[in-house]
Amino acid sequence: TLSDRLSSVLSNLRGKGRLSPADIDATAREIRIALLEADVALPVVRTFIAAVKQKATGAEVSAALNPAQQVIKIVNDELIAILGGETRRLQFAKNPPTVILLAGLQGAGKTTLAGKLARWLKAQGHAPLLVACDLQRPNAVTQLQVVGEQAGVTVFAPEPGNGVGDPVGVARDGVRFAREKQHDVVVVDTAGRLGVDAEMMQQAADIRDATSPDEILFVVDAMIGQDAVQTAEAFKAGVGFTGVVLTKLDGDARGGAALSVRQITGEPIMFASTGEKLADFDVFHPDRMASRILGMGDMLTLIEQAEQVFEAEQAEEMAAKLVGNDFTLDDFLQQMMMLRKMGPIGGLLGMLPGAGQMKEALANVDDRDIDRTAAIIQSMTPQERQDPRIIQASRRQRIAKGSGSTVAQVNALVERFFEARKMMSSMAGRFGLPGARPSNR
Ligand code: GDP
Ligand code: MG
Repeated sequence: TLSDRLSSVLSNLRGKGRLSPADIDATAREIRIALLEADVALPVVRTFIAAVKQKATGAEVSAALNPAQQVIKIVNDELIAILGGETRRLQFAKNPPTVILLAGLQGAGKTTLAGKLARWLKAQGHAPLLVACDLQRPNAVTQLQVVGEQAGVTVFAPEPGNGVGDPVGVARDGVRFAREKQHDVVVVDTAGRLGVDAEMMQQAADIRDATSPDEILFVVDAMIGQDAVQTAEAFKAGVGFTGVVLTKLDGDARGGAALSVRQITGEPIMFASTGEKLADFDVFHPDRMASRILGMGDMLTLIEQAEQVFEAEQAEEMAAKLVGNDFTLDDFLQQMMMLRKMGPIGGLLGMLPGAGQMKEALANVDDRDIDRTAAIIQSMTPQERQDPRIIQASRRQRIAKGSGSTVAQVNALVERFFEARKMMSSMAGRFGLPGARPSNR
């Protein structure tokens, strides 16, 4: 598995400060093999490896993580991205009924999915109708009626004994029935063949034209591996689809089909089937699938925690410094310089919530002002910069003389410093910054 492959490479990374190009190459090689073994299509593997290499080489990685964790994070993030990132929801029609057409090979799990979707939709307050348009196999209609009963929803089926039925006519009648009987969602089950064939594709396309579906879901068995790509391409060309449903994910499929189908067709995976029972079904979550493919759930949790702790520590350190007694005249000067250099949107303060007010106060000085401020602060002893409270009258005279300014200018600066510090601690209190403690001066 990908996780086994990665583990051996990762153990070599332990103790290293950063990733060398050789480390990245070795890791990429293992990922490549693992993905090919998991039946991921070659073009998808190539894209994936290129993206991982580029991220590992660039500076996009968090400083909170060691090299091994960084690799795992990059691979995981890339898996999520390639699986579609966010979960895509069903699109409901503005004027009900919403029509959902199911397409896919025989045995993919369409009829079972119809029952699962109906049950799931019903639980969300919809009134779904199942329409039986698989008239190919003798017991297909009965099978849909059984799952419909399990889901507790109505099934629209042709009258028995009417000879060979017309699936397109049934589909059209089903949608009309739904409109009359106030069903707001129609799920149309269709026939499939063991292999892709023109007649089956044409029938699905005819049903599509007769019902103008809001969603066409391509249902694919995750166990079929590499064949998933070809099948998906055939259905994309023959019927078209707006989303993918992966079935039989309870099997030992490692997710190669998922990665390939999403990437190659450009259509999102919307649902996942994980068993024969109607409840074995969920909205597809790219992040869960990624961690299944990677097989490192616990490690990912650790990484997430490491990042959170790191971020919290940084924020706390900064906040403590800004609002606490540690905020010195040196920091004050440094921030003014930074504001001048980076302009109004830059600077350390920009990273704090509510810092606008503070920034305004600091930015309200022109460049000459900053130069003079710098000169004054530089004429102070380190002790005075650390603890401005000790700057009494005689020290102020010395500082003024040393910096070529007046005592009034020194006074103004010291006052402004205390004001800034006060403003920051009230700000921090208001915004509940971590580590913020009220200044007692
Ligand atoms: P259809 O030909 O596309 O309509 O496929 P069916 O819904 O009839 O399913 C074919 C077989 O696969 C049936 O035996 C189902 O019980 C089984 N099946 C469907 N979905 C799943 C799934 O998610 N997991 C497992 N293990 N079996 C499934
Ligand atoms: Mg079926």
